[in-house]
Amino acid sequence: MCGIVAYLGCREAYPILIRGLHRLEYRGYDSAGVAVLNDEGKLNIYKAVGKVSNLEQVAEGHDCSGTIGIAHTRWATHGAPNEANAHPHISQSGDLTMVHNGIIENAGGLRDQLKAKGFSFRSETDTEVLLQLIEYTQQKHGADLASAVRSALKKVIGAYAIAVIDRKEPGTIVAARKSSPLAVGLGEGNSEFFIASDASPIAGYTNKVVYLNDEEVVVCRRGEPLYITTLNADKVDFRTKEIDLDVTMLDKGGFPHFMLKEIFDQPSVLRDCMRGRLLPAHHRIILSAVTEHREELIGAKRYLMVSCGTSWHAALIGKQLIEQFCRIPVEVAYASEFRYSDPVVGPGDVVFAISQSGETADTLSAIQMASERGAMVFGIVNAVGSSIARASDTGTYIHVGPEIGVASTKAFTGQTTVLTMLALAIAREKGSISETDYNDAITELEQIPDKIERILAKNDEIKALAKEYVDKKNFLYLGRGMNFPVALEGALKLKEISYIHAEGYPAAEMKHGPIALVDEDMPVVFIATHHNLYEKILSNMQEVAARKGRVLAIVSEGDTVVKGIAEHVIEVPPTANFLSPLVSVIPLQLLAYHIAVSKGLNVDQPRNLAKSVTVE
Ligand code: GLU
Repeated sequence: MCGIVAYLGCREAYPILIRGLHRLEYRGYDSAGVAVLNDEGKLNIYKAVGKVSNLEQVAEGHDCSGTIGIAHTRWATHGAPNEANAHPHISQSGDLTMVHNGIIENAGGLRDQLKAKGFSFRSETDTEVLLQLIEYTQQKHGADLASAVRSALKKVIGAYAIAVIDRKEPGTIVAARKSSPLAVGLGEGNSEFFIASDASPIAGYTNKVVYLNDEEVVVCRRGEPLYITTLNADKVDFRTKEIDLDVTMLDKGGFPHFMLKEIFDQPSVLRDCMRGRLLPAHHRIILSAVTEHREELIGAKRYLMVSCGTSWHAALIGKQLIEQFCRIPVEVAYASEFRYSDPVVGPGDVVFAISQSGETADTLSAIQMASERGAMVFGIVNAVGSSIARASDTGTYIHVGPEIGVASTKAFTGQTTVLTMLALAIAREKGSISETDYNDAITELEQIPDKIERILAKNDEIKALAKEYVDKKNFLYLGRGMNFPVALEGALKLKEISYIHAEGYPAAEMKHGPIALVDEDMPVVFIATHHNLYEKILSNMQEVAARKGRVLAIVSEGDTVVKGIAEHVIEVPPTANFLSPLVSVIPLQLLAYHIAVSKGLNVDQPRNLAKSVTVE
């Protein structure tokens, strides 16, 4: 998530840091901050909520001098996006300052231990806990900064990219990474170091870059060569890469559009989403909301899900997952309809609110009403500290990082992943799933990011296919069971960004109306992966082919039957039926994207649409 920039050299650090933060803006963030150590040994720290330009305004006219500094754009995971929680954080003594990307999963326990040792905290972040732990280690063992960082990192569980400065060692930056990227650019001689989340803030200063590996700690010290070790202080022989960055692509991390970047982000962000929750080694799924609200969740009469747009499609999948595994009835409602329908809802009901931004006005007012009527509200949102997160009684963040493209992609798969973990976790508490099915489900879910990677490798194939469909005026998307919501989602993606009219339908319903539209000019996209309704969907496909409809089918690898009926097929790796949406939606996202790009449209900001719909 988000971004880090750090500099040590002979130039003024502040302009380099700010420029670097601007280059990382494409990653999305909610607040920003910078710390510069001046020649008198004073640390000047400035922070602002919102854009990097706000930070520049805050710092303007103040002392920003110094040749060593760290900077950060934050996307909140622990604590609301406000100034106190923005990075850089400062240690209790005021000597250390640090920026961090990622999540420290055992921050809660460590915080309690540090409090017992007399540490107090100024923010709600996990980052400050790690920083105080580094300071505690320094004080207890009289250690230098690098050794203290190494031993503190051995005690944390989770993901991190960090950069730390110590006023007592004014010519040193220590940085480290695990599961969050970090690169070090090497300037002339041993005199200049640029540290950043990716090479974009470094480009233009040097093309010599070292990419850190997991659990490596790097020491940048004025006048000394770069020094990298493991957490056990064993020296690492590193390789310097020559980079050649196309500066025009920097904003989007090398992708031409945010949407494509976010589609390609899915394997890694879904791993982030599952980290610390899906524990295959322990055969467990642990969601704190389920542990804390076990009785209400397993004792509920029924569940309701309220949402809008893509999140509503995720809810339709969630309904099937929960009914299948938990045997609890689930109703799915459009938040806007629910709100004004005088719904029957009250004590004993659990209302799930699903929203990427957590600011969707319809969903927010729906849960306010459900809450007033006595239901428990469970939020499933991406943006930490958002209005829906605050208005919910409990919830689970999807943790897929900021989504900037207006057409939702990684938030949909993140929501579906959370709903899957939720259904399995509740089922286990309720005793409605067997031990074997539960364990098999965990194993299958863990493999999803790898399977998505295999589909993304077909990007060029899908791009070529998209060209065949650019001039079509209408599309039908058909699927059954778990893949009916995927048909809706595929059609919505196409509508949103290519302005082509598209309808999603349950495949068998087609006979009751839409089949009248089918002719040689009507592409029909079938989701026909190998599951329980495969034979049935084959019959539906035959019905379309018999009327000269042009069939494009998403099938499981190795399928030979559909190839005989469909004009085009896209193969996806086989999965258990309940996980099918997480793979079958990926080619549909790419198809919509490439059709829209071929039409020369503004994919990231389609006409008339807003990313966060804060009006009813
Ligand atoms: N977990 C940290 C926080 O909430 C870092 C978030 C980030 O990666 O920006 O402040």
